[in-house]
Order: sequence, then structure tokens, then C-alpha cells
Amino acid sequence: MSIRNISAEGSWFIEFNTPFSWHVRGVKRVLYSGTTKYQRVAVVEFEDLGKALILDGKVQSSFYDEFVYHESLVHPVMITHPNPRRVLILGGGEGATAREVLRHRSVEEVVMVDIDNEVLRLVKEYLPEMSQGVFEDSRFKLVIDDGRKFLERSRDKYDVIILDLTDPLEGGPSYLLYTVEFYSIVRDRLSDDGLMVTQATSTSYSLRTFATIYRTIASVFPIARAYQVYMHSFDSTWGFVIGSKRLDPASLSLEDVNGRIRERIGKELRFYEGDIHRALFALPKHIRAVLEDK
Ligand code: SAM
Repeated sequence: MSIRNISAEGSWFIEFNTPFSWHVRGVKRVLYSGTTKYQRVAVVEFEDLGKALILDGKVQSSFYDEFVYHESLVHPVMITHPNPRRVLILGGGEGATAREVLRHRSVEEVVMVDIDNEVLRLVKEYLPEMSQGVFEDSRFKLVIDDGRKFLERSRDKYDVIILDLTDPLEGGPSYLLYTVEFYSIVRDRLSDDGLMVTQATSTSYSLRTFATIYRTIASVFPIARAYQVYMHSFDSTWGFVIGSKRLDPASLSLEDVNGRIRERIGKELRFYEGDIHRALFALPKHIRAVLEDK
């Protein structure tokens, strides 16, 4: 359901997980509600989650646990790479993905390509706490473009490519960034030790979509690894998939991860650490069975 359907005071926001299941959250304030060239956008303050960005009726992130999502998306690939210097983010509207990338001292350049200038304007105005100044960082470059078109034109190589896109809804702006053809272009734009990661939808409500994304990436990359984390803001476990040319993120030990966080970031993160890295990749049997199409 769209935020347009509720009033600003003492109201409720309903998010459909599937056509048959939904969850409801109390809304304290609607800071913005409108439609851009690409999507419906709302910025609200929920009673329990704090401020949140909603695109096409789906919560993208909230103050309550955006750090869980963004640390889980960014750090497993960044920590696996031996020396990530050039990083590309496709999507990433809130700026929080770039914020996590820039915690790594090795990073010399982050290019973020988002299709929707209006979303960027709104997050800068209403959610500056998420980006924490990254838009002004000298290592950061913003490009407003379709991520696929940008990558098709570019011949640059990156150490890490992060796909922080909206879900692959048919007719939606990110649909063509979940295909074999697109992942093949991503692979070709990665350096020899390169890794990519994508958010891969809900493992509770859209397990088949998660599995399809995993199998698509596994058909393109020598190493594919799927993982998940619980996200209270999405009322769901959330999936991610890594494609890697050479290095296996699942082979890192707790000590490897903690040592690299100390060397490269120099301080503790709020969520991600060695124990969590190991736990993220420990998928339950029934999910592994769907991934393997059993
Ligand atoms: N954290 C989110 C979630 O819940 O999955 C996704 C992050 S983010 C807000 C999604 C961004 O992807 C939006 O800012 C949207 O404009 C951008 N986007 C969608 N399609 C795109 C495309 N084809 N190229 C570049 N950016 C795109």
C-alpha cells in the first residue's frame, strides 16, 4: 500500500510482503510523500523505527537497523578483498552504503551511480544522518544514471562492485540489473581479485527470487556465496549474494576478519565482526535446498 493512502496524524503504514501477507507500522510523521520520474518516494518517522525511506511502498532502510543492512552488504566483500582501492556502487540512494565503504582506509575512490536525482535530493534534505557527510568526501563521486547503462559504457575496472538496488520488480527501474547479461558485464569490470555483492530480497517472503538471483550469479562467477541477516525494519530475514572471481568470503576465519577490521578500519563496527561474518554464511538446510534446487 502506498503512503498516499494514509493520513499524516495517528496513521498506519501497511507494507505488503506478498499479496497475501503484510505488516503494519504506526507512523508518527510524514516528512515527504511524492512521485519522481522513476518511483514513489516517502520519508516518514515511524513510532518504533525512527525515520525511514520508503520507495514504491517498500521500506528501504530505517534508523533502527540501517547499520545492520549496510554493514552486512558492504563489509563481507570489502574484508575478503586483499586491498580494495576502487569501489563502484550502483543504487545506494541513502549514501549509507558509501559511508560503510569509506570506513576502509585502503579506498581511494568510490563511484556511486543512482538513477534518481530526486531521491538523492530528498535523502540529503530529510535523512542526512544516514550519509554522515560522505557526499562531501573527496574520494566520493556521484553519477546520476542508470547503473546498467553506466557500466555498459564504462571500461574502468573496480576491485569491488556493490549493487544496492531496489527489488527486481517487472517494469521497475532495477529489473535489468539482475540478469545473466548484466552480471557478465559486472564480472568483466572487476579486477583479478574482484568481488561483487547484491542485495537479494527477502529470504522469508521471496525465497524463490533469492534462489534465482543466487543461481544467476553462480552461472557467471567461479565462486558464488549466499547469506542472510534478520532485518526488523523489513520484518524478515534479508538475503545477499556475492559473486567472486577468485577469493572465497566463506573461507575467512573469525580471526582473519577481526584482524582485517583492526588493520583496515581501525575501530569496531556496530554490527559486523568475525563471529557475525561466519554466522551470516551459515544458511539453514531448507534454504540451502532451495538454492540447490532440490
Ligand atoms: N536498501 C534498499 C533495500 O531495501 O533493498 C536498497 C537501497 S537504495 C535506496 C535503492 C536505490 O536504487 C534507489 O535510490 C534507486 O533510485 C536506485 N535504483 C533503482 N534502479 C536503479 C538503476 N537502474 N540504476 C541505478 N540506481 C537504481
